[in-house]
Amino acid sequence: MAMERRELGNTGLRLSCVGFGASPLGNVFGRVYPVAAVAAVRRALDLGINFFDTSPYYGGTVSEAVLGECLSEIGAPREEIVVSTKCGRYADGFDFSAERVSRSVDESLARLKLDYVDILHCHDIEFAPSLDQIVNETIPALQKIKEKGKARFIGITGLPLQIFTYVLDRVPPGSVDVILSYCHYGINDLTLADLLPYLKSKGIGVISASPLAMGLLTENGPPEWHPASEELKSACRAAAAHCKKKGKNISKVALQYSLMNKEISTVLVGMNSPEQVEENVAAALELSNVGIDEGLVREIEEILEPVKNQTWPSGIQES
Ligand code: NAD
Repeated sequence: MAMERRELGNTGLRLSCVGFGASPLGNVFGRVYPVAAVAAVRRALDLGINFFDTSPYYGGTVSEAVLGECLSEIGAPREEIVVSTKCGRYADGFDFSAERVSRSVDESLARLKLDYVDILHCHDIEFAPSLDQIVNETIPALQKIKEKGKARFIGITGLPLQIFTYVLDRVPPGSVDVILSYCHYGINDLTLADLLPYLKSKGIGVISASPLAMGLLTENGPPEWHPASEELKSACRAAAAHCKKKGKNISKVALQYSLMNKEISTVLVGMNSPEQVEENVAAALELSNVGIDEGLVREIEEILEPVKNQTWPSGIQES
């Protein structure tokens, strides 16, 4: 059985419901050797994943370069894959100016060894000096990039959900095609759900990233840099331990939970090995064939109830 594909807003793109988040290829969650990276990307393609997301920020350009190397070594047919990258956020800080993002896309294309990306996102726009810069300067610059054929569609990403409505209410229709939200549609935080009718009414495609809450909902736990409060980390640890005691894996059920809402076109999971790819694809297929373990979901929800929808500050306004 093939993995489900879903329409991405009005773009005409059809994305595998599980997308390959390539931030781990930038060694963001620990060292990934090139052999493992190629094997992970190859397995993803073999198992029907057609969407790959990266950024010049991940690992200070390493993720883009490694993904580019993997795709070219494998020889993935360009028209069969959907590649997104980002601009505006870099290892040395943020710059959403027209000049920087125009240069950035050329640098990204060189690293990715591609002539165009399918989606170019403004990365974490809550860190722009003002969201009006995104509306008045960055998005118009990205339209020019689109006109030159270097990106087919334009997106915006970030953590606080209000950034999306702020920008989408102010830009001309059709200038932003997609949003990428993270850590807001999962078993511990479901706040993106409230925004879905608004996004649908505007024909905006919805990418939801980090169903494992950037490692919180894994047996190994999150990396050192994870911004969650100790209370949230410890509740997630307890939920993972509960699942393990029952012989279940919290990551599987967490991914399945995020996949259940078909208004979300794709759920981006960070992956760094063929084994993780196989586990995540198997989780999606099991969801389609058998459904989710509802009893386990209720037990996890109960453990996470005290931290339900708890998030962390992100961006200029919130820090
Ligand atoms: P995630 O919630 O997908 O968690 C990734 C972690 O889970 C990694 O440590 C990975 O090795 C591990 N993992 C994956 N599958 C597993 C499995 N089956 N069992 C156990 N552990 C497993 O978080 P993420 O990687 O931050 O998010 C996914 C992707 O979404 C990123 O790679 C990136 O492409 C994108 N993203 C974008 C933004 C943004 O634009 N601002 C923010 C976050 C994520």
